[in-house]
Amino acid sequence: FRCLMSSILITGGSGYIGSHTVVALISAGYNPVIVDNLSNSKITVLDRIETITGKRPPFYQIDLRDRAALDVVFQTHSISAAIHFGGLKAVGESVAEPLRYYENNIESTLSLCFVMAARGVKRLVFSSSATVYGDPHTVPIREDFPLAPANPYGRTKLMIEQILQDLYAADPAWQIALLRYFNPVGAHPSGLIGEDPGGHPNNLMPYISQVAVGRRERLSVFGSDYPTTDGTGVRDYIHVMDLAEGHLAALRYMEKAESLSPQRQEYKLNLSSPDSLSFPRRRESIPLIVNLGTGRGYSVLEMVSAFEKVSGKTIPWQITDRRPGDIAACYADAIRAKDLLGWTASRTLTDMCADTWRWQSQNPAGYP
Ligand code: NAD
Ligand code: UDP
Repeated sequence: FRCLMSSILITGGSGYIGSHTVVALISAGYNPVIVDNLSNSKITVLDRIETITGKRPPFYQIDLRDRAALDVVFQTHSISAAIHFGGLKAVGESVAEPLRYYENNIESTLSLCFVMAARGVKRLVFSSSATVYGDPHTVPIREDFPLAPANPYGRTKLMIEQILQDLYAADPAWQIALLRYFNPVGAHPSGLIGEDPGGHPNNLMPYISQVAVGRRERLSVFGSDYPTTDGTGVRDYIHVMDLAEGHLAALRYMEKAESLSPQRQEYKLNLSSPDSLSFPRRRESIPLIVNLGTGRGYSVLEMVSAFEKVSGKTIPWQITDRRPGDIAACYADAIRAKDLLGWTASRTLTDMCADTWRWQSQNPAGYP
């Protein structure tokens, strides 16, 4: 059996960002195929995707490092591109278990690229992270800022970016997009899919929403003496559906690039107003590298108060020590995404809180 309809492989597609991107892809008429080992997601997400979209994407429970199993997916489906979300992402865990992080994230990517190359599928979107910038010397953060990740998780992202750049330089048939996400939050507006961190949430929004729903007593605010408006950390929170649509924009950019010119000289066409930030002039330079953020930051206390307003719940909080490794402020310069991909985040902070709250209150214990 071989499905002839062209498909997009979504690694990590049952996870938080992957599942929302699957919904966005189906809504846009694409056929996503999911590969995930379910190490950090639940199979029930498929029922929810089906309820939202009316379609159930093919799903393979496979570890990405299993090349033979992955190859069968490429034999079964006519895959035209891959979006690579699959990976481990907890910063603290990566400090405690660096080998597991390097092994999982890097081997998964190598395996995926080997199979893609063997099957002649050379269009790849990679989930990178603003964490590759480390502590920026200034904000907003532009794509050409120095890269200095501060923990093993971030270093896996940077190493994978470098591997993919080498691959891109070696073989002109590859199209590669490195998307550096800022802080994804929120959920699909149906409240059927959302972020479901197992155990103790590390990130701010899931923690706030678990306090709101009564699963946690109070939020610890990690530090109040940062050089920010109210002393708490500032981040660029981006609605996960905006982020999902950013992947669509990157995919379309690459599809269009290829149709414009088989040699992909079209990349040069994007240089109508060349400056240091424009897309690389020469084919042999770097792949598409784009921040996906809103371009503005909110403090921890601004997030708490926005969430309280939307949910009608009081979020008890207390100031505690700074979290080791945290930085004061991190938000994107989002201009390149707009110029190259024609994409900007459109959902507001209120949308982010309302959709998080809908998901959390409808699913207080996460996915069944
Ligand atoms: P997630 O944990 O919800 O999704 C990742 C998925 O990958 C999970 O479903 C997990 O089971 C799967 N996976 C992990 N290792 C695998 C392997 N070896 N084989 C097959 N499947 C595997 O995380 P997410 O928040 O949806 O993040 C998706 C991607 O985006 C990750 O690569 C993450 O590093 C990156 N990212 C996330 C954030 C964030 O704040 N959520 C920010 C920047 C970048
Ligand atoms: N934060 C907090 N309490 C928490 C979790 C996070 O005060 O329980 C703060 C954290 O110090 C940072 C912001 O919220 O300033 C966002 O943290 P998160 O871990 O969500 O994202 P990251 O720091 O990785 O950008």
